[in-house]
Amino acid sequence: MPIDKPETFAFTRHEPVGVVGALTAWNSPLLFVAWKCAPALAAGCAVVVKPSEFASASTLEFARLTKEAGLPDGMFNVVTGYGGEAGTAIVEHPDVAKITFTGSDVTGAKVYEAAARQIKRVSLELGGKSPNIVFADADLKAAAAGAISGIFAATGQTCIAGSRLLVQNSIREEFVTRLVELARTAKLGDPMQADTNIGPITTPPQYAKVLDYIALAKSEGARCVFGGNPATGPGVIGGQFVEPTIFTGVTNDMRIAQEEVFGPVLSIIGFDDEAEALRIGNDVIYGLAAGVWTQDIGRAMRMSKGLRAGTVWVNTYRAVSYMMPFGGMKRSGIGRESGIESIREFLETKSVWISTSRDAPENPFVMR
Ligand code: NAD
Repeated sequence: MPIDKPETFAFTRHEPVGVVGALTAWNSPLLFVAWKCAPALAAGCAVVVKPSEFASASTLEFARLTKEAGLPDGMFNVVTGYGGEAGTAIVEHPDVAKITFTGSDVTGAKVYEAAARQIKRVSLELGGKSPNIVFADADLKAAAAGAISGIFAATGQTCIAGSRLLVQNSIREEFVTRLVELARTAKLGDPMQADTNIGPITTPPQYAKVLDYIALAKSEGARCVFGGNPATGPGVIGGQFVEPTIFTGVTNDMRIAQEEVFGPVLSIIGFDDEAEALRIGNDVIYGLAAGVWTQDIGRAMRMSKGLRAGTVWVNTYRAVSYMMPFGGMKRSGIGRESGIESIREFLETKSVWISTSRDAPENPFVMR
């Protein structure tokens, strides 16, 4: 490249960072393997994946397929086990150069701390409390569908769940009625059936946590307008189902508005104007995603600029692709997955300088 030094040629090399340790969460285990390992392998790194102890099977099956596909031995490795044991061993292993982690912010902070002791490279994909913001000028039918899938898809067990629904006060009552009507149509049941809308909560501790948050929201003064109980009835097998739950009268300082529930629980907060929507939207420790529903392009542009979130969706929610960067601001993480950014996460940049001069420097104590 042209450089501001005479008789010098300089260029950069992008080299694989080294062995990558990939630690994944249980909620979309195979997707995380793809998002982490495809760019790592493309960058030339070998990977060691530690899937969640609750969801290891798909990663092991993927490992079998990499062998069938002819990936050289040693490029894709899986270590199963508990986080505190197998996860820690990978993070602390001196031959692992980079950790890419998906999970809660509490565990992410521990991983970050342990990696820092060896100045390891780290990418973190953590939790969220994403605002899904509906303005009065939106297509309300589309916005209601976006609010419902925003929170209830995968039974609310997604990092990008639009768990704080901000609705402009002038349409709030009407909009809540629409949401309740839609929530009433949810089919609870076996998650392996294509027509099931809401499945069980994945683990007993997570089930207890969701019910605790529902009780907390009630005790904080939020008004439950739909659901709010363990679910029973036809199609519901076993004891780990929770009704899709909608709270109104939530204020942004309540814990139900600030903390990640990771379940089918929606908190509705009113706002009057754009400035207030932005202030409430950003008033949270997380910054993973946000939704904006409006037909005003100027407002869409202002909101997408002002919201402190790694992804902002306008008149849609949950769209992801391996072609677009994904990741969090603030306590939602560090680094990006997907898009060209994801490959850079696994590369080191090296600067190479070559002198083209034939003469030795006149003064050996001063470099040219
Ligand atoms: P978790 O933090 O409990 O576990 C994540 C992974 O870390 C697991 O593999 C676990 O075994 C491992 N682990 C646990 N303790 C460890 C330690 N001390 N050292 C190293 N590894 C350790 O998270 P989870 O319950 O599996 O997943 C739910 C969380 O993940 C939610 O907070 C959710 O928002 C977040 N998440 C984020 C994204 C994202 O892309 N931003 C995607 C999905 C889930």
